[in-house]
Amino acid sequence: MSNRSSARIYNPNMECMSRDEIHALQGERLAKTVRLEYENVPMYRKRMQEAGVKPEDIRTLEDLQYLPFTEKTDLRDEFPFGLLAAPRSEIVRIQGSSGTTGKPIVSGYTENDVEVWTEMVARAMAAAGVDENSIVQVAYGYGLFTGGLGAHQGASRVGAMVVPMSSGNTQRQIMMMKELGVTHLCCTPSYCTYLGETVREMGIDPERDLKLQGGCFGAEPWTEGMRQHMEELLHIDALNIYGLTEIAGPGVSFECLEKQGMHVNEDHVIAEIIDPATGKQLPCGQAGELVFTTITKTGMPMIRYRTHDICVLDDRPCACGRTTLRMGRITGRTDDMLVIRGVNVFPSQIETVLVGVNGVAPHYMLVVDRVNSTDTLEVQVEMTEDMFSDTVGHIETLRKTIVDQIKSVVGISANVRLVAPKSIPRSEGKAKRVIDNRKL
Ligand code: ADP
Ligand code: ZN
Repeated sequence: MSNRSSARIYNPNMECMSRDEIHALQGERLAKTVRLEYENVPMYRKRMQEAGVKPEDIRTLEDLQYLPFTEKTDLRDEFPFGLLAAPRSEIVRIQGSSGTTGKPIVSGYTENDVEVWTEMVARAMAAAGVDENSIVQVAYGYGLFTGGLGAHQGASRVGAMVVPMSSGNTQRQIMMMKELGVTHLCCTPSYCTYLGETVREMGIDPERDLKLQGGCFGAEPWTEGMRQHMEELLHIDALNIYGLTEIAGPGVSFECLEKQGMHVNEDHVIAEIIDPATGKQLPCGQAGELVFTTITKTGMPMIRYRTHDICVLDDRPCACGRTTLRMGRITGRTDDMLVIRGVNVFPSQIETVLVGVNGVAPHYMLVVDRVNSTDTLEVQVEMTEDMFSDTVGHIETLRKTIVDQIKSVVGISANVRLVAPKSIPRSEGKAKRVIDNRKL
């Protein structure tokens, strides 16, 4: 499937520096950003004064640890324009978070910030093999959500022909994909799966009838098993892309065709991993909460923004030639973590089990409840068509296998309910995989 020779490094000057060069550049840019915030954003000035830090104290990357964190609640408290570091007249764009967790937040972009973001996504597109001969179908939603416009800008920048479909209208998406000869697809992994399954149902053979080669998929957590499923369904290289509105949007980091983690655009952002409980920095290789500092944005720069996303960083060079830090898959958001009878459970752990079992499709819903003051977890998962029409004996064996595997991987007893194919709602954007009735 891979056509590595077609993938190039968009900006080798920035993507292939030595670690020392990257760190020096980050230190310099950090100092500038800190001064910008101190002079223009009352919240940051106050926080730094409280922490006893002055802009002149921040000179190198090592000084980052002395700066206070920024939380999502700060963006809500300062909504909409309290955190702007540039005059209102210089803000040319507003984008908003999709509101997966609570009230939406917005970020303001200067022309410079739109440019920075576009460059970051252009690098991701190039890494996926997108160039001026490519046709890119953007099936992320367009609007306040950064997915659609982000992918659009990045694909345009590398000179591709962009098909701005936005999400939804699945049959029409597939018709366009086929008739135009689309080469790359950008959408959430859950929507990609849905598109892929619909392609198959329509009797379209991706290898014979489509020109799809790959795509950039993100905006929600997914697993290696899900990647394999998508790659087989659509006969593509499915690459991971990560980002968040507060920092820019998609493209903060992206995978190359090596598929060994997402390269962080380190000339634009500094990534740290911290222990979420103590706030202390953790070394590469250790899992913790991802924290980002923007170092080139001017509209609404962020200092040590706590993402609540959990992953591991890797600073070893990649076989692709890039030297930037790589992020492992997001294994969960601390906001998504379910505590069930005292055990921490991430939906991604359950997904890993489900995609490894034959007879079920990767469409599931976790229903958490409290019965007689005990937490319960029900895992609803769709059977494949074959399994659905099989004998009762097989289904029960399958159910028990899943129960056992969840017990051994996650450490809790779940009630597994095998449901009919297509009975779990499909997602065109970010999938909703958890219903927690304890919170009602
Ligand atoms: P929200 O989902 O918080 O409303 P955004 O639309 O800005 O807001 O989405 C950012 C969040 O989406 C990230 O913090 C992360 O949790 C999730 N996300 C984005 N890309 C990925 C990815 N490739 N893998 C896992 N999670 C991702
Ligand atoms: Zn690489």
